[in-house]
Amino acid sequence: MSSVRYNIQITQEKIRAEKHKLAQGHLSIPKLVAVSKQQPDNKVDESILAGQRVFGENRVQEAKQRWHARKVKYPDLELHLIGPLQTNKVADAVELFDFIEVVDRVKLAKILAVEMRRQNRHLPCFVQVNTGEEPQKAGVMPSEVDEFIHFCQQDCSLDIVGLMCIPPADEEPAMHFALLREMAKRNNLSELSMGMSSDFETAIAFGSTSVRVGSAIFGAREKQK
Ligand SMILES: *Cc1c(COP(=O)(O)O)cnc(C)c1O
Repeated sequence: MSSVRYNIQITQEKIRAEKHKLAQGHLSIPKLVAVSKQQPDNKVDESILAGQRVFGENRVQEAKQRWHARKVKYPDLELHLIGPLQTNKVADAVELFDFIEVVDRVKLAKILAVEMRRQNRHLPCFVQVNTGEEPQKAGVMPSEVDEFIHFCQQDCSLDIVGLMCIPPADEEPAMHFALLREMAKRNNLSELSMGMSSDFETAIAFGSTSVRVGSAIFGAREKQK
């Protein structure tokens, strides 16, 4: 068995085991978004052959090169944009991706809304929250989340399905996951995109419905150019 196939199986088993520990809650198993950014094509193809269909990419141009033809070949692929989105890339992003996980500012929300209408592609979106309030990181500040969600829904008619966060690298992720869950709950949002290779089990314990796992499946990434 190839290592990528094996890693996907192990990760899926860990996700199921973690979900199983939670006595309460809905029964659906958290979605595994395989983060393929900066990974070699042969490993990506291995994962598709192993049955993986949901992928995350952080750059629109790189994703286009990698996924445009593959999406034609495999119509059931589901692509998530998980990296910062510049407004001049919105048209390409709406055309290629199936989920936008990084809605984090008024201008972006407005342009996404216009572009989705223009392409008649009304993609489910996550609002990204900067739970650690880190200056270098994308995401809405926690104090502004409620108002921003309301703006996206009411003023832009975006289909906001949930919240997404990337906790600070040097902090316990649990409190950030708990905070994100709380913000989603009070805004009646059911989806939580949280948890990466190092902390997806903790994230599931805090209610994650979608984990973004890269290196645990594909190994260490190539350096970004
Ligand atoms: C790269 C990345 C991941 C995957 O990280 P791993 O630690 O390799 O699992 C998840 N989420 C986002 C937003 C990323 O940029």
